[in-house]
Amino acid sequence: MSLAPQPVLAGPTASLLDLIGKTPMVEVSRMNTGKCRLFLKLESQNPGGSIKDRIALSMIAAAEREGWLKPGGTIVEATAGNTGLALTLVGQAKGYKVLLVIPDKMSKEKIQHLRAMGADVRLTRSDVPHGHPEYYTDMAERLAQQIPGGYYVNQFANDANTLAHFETTGPEIWDQMDGKVDAFVAGIGSGGTITGIGQFLKSKGSKAEIILADPVGSTLAGIVNEGVPGPEGSYTVEGIGQNFVPETAHMDLIDKAYSIPDAEAIATVRELLLKEGILAGSSSGTLIASALRWCREQTEPKTCVTFVCDTGAKYLSKVYNDAWLADQGLGERELHGDLSDLIT
Ligand code: PMP
Repeated sequence: MSLAPQPVLAGPTASLLDLIGKTPMVEVSRMNTGKCRLFLKLESQNPGGSIKDRIALSMIAAAEREGWLKPGGTIVEATAGNTGLALTLVGQAKGYKVLLVIPDKMSKEKIQHLRAMGADVRLTRSDVPHGHPEYYTDMAERLAQQIPGGYYVNQFANDANTLAHFETTGPEIWDQMDGKVDAFVAGIGSGGTITGIGQFLKSKGSKAEIILADPVGSTLAGIVNEGVPGPEGSYTVEGIGQNFVPETAHMDLIDKAYSIPDAEAIATVRELLLKEGILAGSSSGTLIASALRWCREQTEPKTCVTFVCDTGAKYLSKVYNDAWLADQGLGERELHGDLSDLIT
C-alpha cells in the first residue's frame, strides 16, 4: 500500500463515457473467506456507479450501427434503475431522449437520480409476473411501439449486452487475475454478465466454476440445482433474480447456484462496509454472500472473483437505514455499527 503516484495516470478525457470500464479489483482482507482468497471487481466505480455502464455503450452503438435508433430518437428500456442510468448517460452524450419503466420497489435514490438527469421515468408494479401488461418489460415494449422514433433496448434479449462483458469485463478479470480464477460468482438480472464472462472464461480454457448468486424468491437457482424453477416470492434485493429465463441468460454455463435470503445479503454488505470500507449495493450482498459460502466450503486454497455491482450510495435509504431494516424485519443491529451510543 502506498500513496505514490501511479506510473501512468491517464490524462484528461474528452467524454465521461471514456471512463467506463477498466475497473479496479480489490482483495477482501478482514472477512472470513476460509481457505480462499476472495477478490471484488469494483463496478461501482464506473461513471454511472454500476456494472451497467458497459452494456449501455455497446447496446446503443449496436442500435446506431443497425439503424434501429435514429438521431432525435427515444431510448426506451425496462430497468431496475442501473441500466436506465447508464442509458441516460449515453443518451445525454449522444442527444437521445430516454424513457424508463421501473418497478416500484426500486430505491428512491435511483429514481430521483434518473429524473434529475432528465430521464422520463414511469413506475410500474413490482408484484406482477412476466407477461402481465403492467410487468416492466411488457410495458416498456408497448411504450416503445407507441412513441415515434422509440427504440426498445431490451437488455434481456440483446446480444450487445452479453458481448460487452465478453469483450471487456471478462478480459479485464483475466488480466487482473493473471488467469488464476477457480470460481466466478454473479447474479442474473438479464444474465448478460454471467453469460458474457462465463463464455469468455471458457474460451480461455479456464476450469473456473461458474456460480449463480440468486435471491430467495427468484426461480433461477432451482433451474441450476434441480432442473426446475424454484418457488417464486418477493425479495428486497434489487437488480437480480427473475421469474423467467431471459434469452441473454445461458443457464447451461452455470455449475452451481446459491439461494440467498435478504437478511444474509444485507448482513453481508453491512459487514463489507464495516470491515472493508466498501459501500456496495444490495445485489452485491447476494453475490458476496454466495462467494463466501463457496469459499468456506473449500478444503484447498482457491481463488474466487465476484463483483461490487453498484454503489451502496444508491440504497442509503434502505440497506443502510436501520429504521427501514427494522420495519422489514431484517435488522441485525449488532452487525450494523449503530452509532447512537456515541452521539451525546
Ligand atoms: N446488480 C445490479 C445492481 C443490477 O442492476 C443488475 C442488472 N439489473 C445486475 C446486478 C445483474 O446483471 P445482469 O443483467 O448482467 O445479469
